[in-house]
Amino acid sequence: MYIDTHAHLYLPDFQPDLEEVINYSKLVGVEMFVLPNVDLETVNPLMQVVNEHASCYAAMGLHPTSVSANYKTVLEEIVGWFSRSKFIAVGEVGIDLYWDKTYFKQQQEAFAAQIDLALSLSLPIIIHCREAFSEIFDILEAYRGRGLRGVFHSFSGGTKEVNWIRNFGGFYFGIGGVITFKNSSLKEVIRQIPLDEILLETDSPYLAPVPHRGKRNMPSYIPVIAQALAIYKVSTPELVEECTTRNAHKLFNFN
Ligand SMILES: [Zn+2]
Repeated sequence: MYIDTHAHLYLPDFQPDLEEVINYSKLVGVEMFVLPNVDLETVNPLMQVVNEHASCYAAMGLHPTSVSANYKTVLEEIVGWFSRSKFIAVGEVGIDLYWDKTYFKQQQEAFAAQIDLALSLSLPIIIHCREAFSEIFDILEAYRGRGLRGVFHSFSGGTKEVNWIRNFGGFYFGIGGVITFKNSSLKEVIRQIPLDEILLETDSPYLAPVPHRGKRNMPSYIPVIAQALAIYKVSTPELVEECTTRNAHKLFNFN
C-alpha cells in the first residue's frame, strides 16, 4: 500500500466528491493520507475531514504564504489546537519568497517558533520551501544536532541542497507530480537521493502528474508518481511503494 504524505483534501476542490476520491484512492492502493493545515480558515474543514475519515491524519501549522503582520495572534490560535486534538506533525511551515517578500521577517519568526513547537512536542515538521533554501538553511543551522526531523515537501532543490539536507540529517525528501514534468531537473537530482530518504506525495489538488497535468490532482495518482520515480531510481514500483511507505511510517508514527 501507498501513503500520500501531502494532500489538502479539505479544500473546496474536494467538497463535491471527497468520498469517491478517497474510496478510489484506496482501490488503487493509496490507503493513508497526511493533511497539512494552511491557515485559520482551513482548520475547521481539516478537522472535519480527519474526524470523519480514519485514513486521514492531520498536521497543524501556519503556512508561510499565510504569514502577515498579525501572525502572532494567528499562530497562538493554531498552537492552541495541539492541546485539543492529535496531530502527527507541525506543518506546513517554512519560507516562501516566490509569491510575496513583504513579510519575510515575520515568515522567519513564524518558522522558528514552529520549529521550537515541534521540538517541544517531539513532532516532525513539514517544510514548504519556495525560492528560499538558503533562508531556510540559515534558520535550521541553529537547530543542528537537536533531533529535529521532517520532510522537505515538494522538494525542488539541486545537488547543493540535497547535500546540505543530507548532511543536516533527519529529513526526508517529498517527491510528487513534478518528477513527471517534461523539463524537471528533479529527474537528475533524484539519483543522488537514496530511496529510504524519499516520501511520496501529491500536494492535491495542486501539481497533478503527467498525463493529468493542469487538472485537479488526487491521491489516486500516487502510483503514477511511483512509476516515474522507479524509472529514475532504476528500481521497481513495488520497491518504491514498500520503501516510501516504510519511510512515512518512520517519520509520522501514525499509531
Ligand atoms: Zn501543501
